[in-house]
Amino acid sequence: RRNTSTAPPAAAERTLIAVKPDGVQRGLVGKIIQRFEQRGFKLVGIKMLQVSKDLLSEHYCELRAKPFYPDVQAYMTSGPVIAMVWEGDNVVQTSRSMVGPTDPTQAQSGTIRGDFSIHVSRNVVHASDSLEGAQREIQLWFEGKDLLDWDCCSRAWTHRP
Ligand code: GDP
Ligand code: MG
Repeated sequence: RRNTSTAPPAAAERTLIAVKPDGVQRGLVGKIIQRFEQRGFKLVGIKMLQVSKDLLSEHYCELRAKPFYPDVQAYMTSGPVIAMVWEGDNVVQTSRSMVGPTDPTQAQSGTIRGDFSIHVSRNVVHASDSLEGAQREIQLWFEGKDLLDWDCCSRAWTHRP
């Protein structure tokens, strides 16, 4: 179907993916990046950082009051994290299905958590859970100047024309 409307194309969908400290320590960064690359998504931002307690409590604002939050804080601040922004059609929902459920005992093989983890307190990777959540988290973790607009040469082979 040809797009005959004069409206500008909608902004591309983006999501925040982070390899948690266990994923970094276990040498899983490359394997996790590869899954998003090979699915057809485009990397538009990436950095390694030591997460502060302040950043984490903003990021997990809805978890702060949970009894397990101190464990989550100790886990997530225990070592470096790789934070990334990935872009593409339906990337928020598709990444959640690639990552698998929060509890790895419920995760199918073939998902990242289902292939690389066995306990909810060491579940290797974060993915935003909604469009609004993704926008909020991307703004929290990245400055606009560190997100790159670039043309990926394989786009025509992964997206509709
Ligand atoms: P996610 O969006 O699938 O990552 O899950 P949530 O947003 O509900 O929780 C955020 C993170 O908190 C999870 O990925 C887990 O690492 C951690 N978490 C969630 N529930 C528990 C729990 O019951 N115990 C512990 N120790 N950690 C949990
Ligand atoms: Mg979540």
